[in-house]
Amino acid sequence: MSSELRKDPFSDGWIIVSPERSKKPTDFIQKTQELQNSGKKCPFCPGNEDETSVEIRSVGRPQNGSKSEWDLRVVANRFPALKIENSLVLKNLNRVHNQIGGVGAHEVIIESTKHDGELWSFSDEERYKILEVYRERVEDLYRDKRFVYVQIFRNFGEIAGASLVHPHSQLIAVPTIPKRAMEEIKASKHFWETYNNCLFCEKIYENKKINERIICETKNFIALEPFASRFPFETWVLPKNHSSNFSEIKSKDLAELSKILGETLTMLKNALNNPPYNLVIHTSPNSLHTKYENIENFFHWHIEIIPRLSSIAGFEWGTGFYINPVSPEEAAKFLLNSLVRN
Ligand SMILES: [Zn+2]
Ligand SMILES: [Zn+2]
Ligand SMILES: [Zn+2]
Repeated sequence: MSSELRKDPFSDGWIIVSPERSKKPTDFIQKTQELQNSGKKCPFCPGNEDETSVEIRSVGRPQNGSKSEWDLRVVANRFPALKIENSLVLKNLNRVHNQIGGVGAHEVIIESTKHDGELWSFSDEERYKILEVYRERVEDLYRDKRFVYVQIFRNFGEIAGASLVHPHSQLIAVPTIPKRAMEEIKASKHFWETYNNCLFCEKIYENKKINERIICETKNFIALEPFASRFPFETWVLPKNHSSNFSEIKSKDLAELSKILGETLTMLKNALNNPPYNLVIHTSPNSLHTKYENIENFFHWHIEIIPRLSSIAGFEWGTGFYINPVSPEEAAKFLLNSLVRN
């Protein structure tokens, strides 16, 4: 195909899909990485609990069990970007410079006792427990109305920002809605007001009609390469039934999500040789903030997985346009073929 501009319906941005820039999907297959931190004492391994900050939650510790008995732990980040104790005061320093105290929560979810485990390699049951803790932490933090938004994220690989190999994810609760979430909220609100339908539900419907970008599907979930993918092999996982708040997911759906997430990550791992990636969950903001009426009707929670295969350069910074050298249709085909190859 020749290159084309595609409108990102979730922001006001444009994506340049430019497969002519000499890149083939196979150009993105990663070289096998050496394990980082091997040999060093890992603060997330069982027995090293004193190396981590305050424990917020543990799963699987028997009553009267020792502190090194657990399946999963949530701890405060040792170098938090934001702190729960700080105060929430908006200061207008002058007309152009505003600031809020660094109030928030920064937590680390140590997903497993297995130092070399990976999210794709865990059993559905193990992954379920991780997702269950995500749900619980969002629910818990949203009881505090200072926290307007909880961003769950997972960095895998050094390039994606992971400083430790031991499987973990993080969350940051912030006193304001982050830019990307805000763009999605505004775009889906506008779509709902215009067409009286959820933008995400309609996206799923259109993708199912064409079936060129879907990589995996279960009864209640779908994994696809978005039409206006900003990055090569950008992959989203969405519930098919409309739902705005991730923390309201039912346990049986969580089990199904664990399965499709495992399959999706396995496809990316097989096709691209375990690429570094960032995974984020976009959910609705704290409902104690009622600024967005009807948000339960127009926003739709989802997971975005961004393999870190290309870097952002001056053109992207300058314009807010993204150049994606692999069309999402080609990426989907390549991922589906990897099932045959492996
Ligand atoms: Zn470890
Ligand atoms: Zn929807
Ligand atoms: Zn999103």
